[in-house]
Amino acid sequence: MDAAENRSEPREEAAAGAAPTLQVRDLSYSYGKAKALDGVSLSARAGRVTALLGPNGAGKTTLFSLITGLFDSRRGEIVIAGHPIRRARSKALAAMGIVFQAQTLDIDLTVDQNLRYFAALRGLPGRHARDRIAALLAEIGLADKAKAKVRTLSGGQRRRVEVARALLDRPALLLLDEPSTGLDIATRRWLTTHIHSLARDHGMAVLMATHLVDEVLAEDDLIVLDKGSVVASGPVGEVVLRSGAADLDAAFTRLTAGKPEAKP
Ligand code: ATP
Repeated sequence: MDAAENRSEPREEAAAGAAPTLQVRDLSYSYGKAKALDGVSLSARAGRVTALLGPNGAGKTTLFSLITGLFDSRRGEIVIAGHPIRRARSKALAAMGIVFQAQTLDIDLTVDQNLRYFAALRGLPGRHARDRIAALLAEIGLADKAKAKVRTLSGGQRRRVEVARALLDRPALLLLDEPSTGLDIATRRWLTTHIHSLARDHGMAVLMATHLVDEVLAEDDLIVLDKGSVVASGPVGEVVLRSGAADLDAAFTRLTAGKPEAKP
């Protein structure tokens, strides 16, 4: 089956009674003459994890750079929690928490100092920030590490702190760019469980870029990106069914004409 046959518009939100938290419409981006994204439309809904699955070079990081305002494109539109990023940049960015692929904590500061500094940048009042930080550290199982310098933490603990930091001011949209890169199995498992609980129990919209099919759960929404275009989107079961493949692994291979990454 041709990949184009699997293309579908972002899921109609009317049935759910609410606009999606993230809407991307007809977005294109080029590095010089090389097109990295070509007419990408997608959405991420509150209360759901949306997996953005694509092989290396598909355009995931470019897309995240546009959604987070690091890059700008005049071709297409990005709306976050009702705020178009080009016309209401501060409000759009304030509605979003981000976990980048690379580690971004200051390793010479303590966990608490990292979080308090970020809380100040986001305009959280001191007392509120203290309470929120204590609650988040308890939630990620690192309450006893508040005064520890980040350089003394393991990679998995650092990633947990980055997730807590992204949640400080309760964003409507949580973006994670290949968050399990370099992590051990226990932390990867924790991450998957935690982000699904954030969506399910706290109504957050979560958009997670990955190239690992085993990080996508049957209950998730899925967007398959390949060579800068969305080649399939919808609930995981529907995408697999439309592809004519037996499971997500086979569907991904069929849709992207490539091999999924081996499970680490
Ligand atoms: P990966 O999983 O390897 O991180 P990706 O899906 O995030 O890949 P991008 O990094 O967004 O993909 O790259 C999309 C395309 O744009 C690729 O063809 C890549 O070579 C190209 N590209 C990315 N960054 C640049 C750049 N700074 N200059 C030129 N081309 C770039």
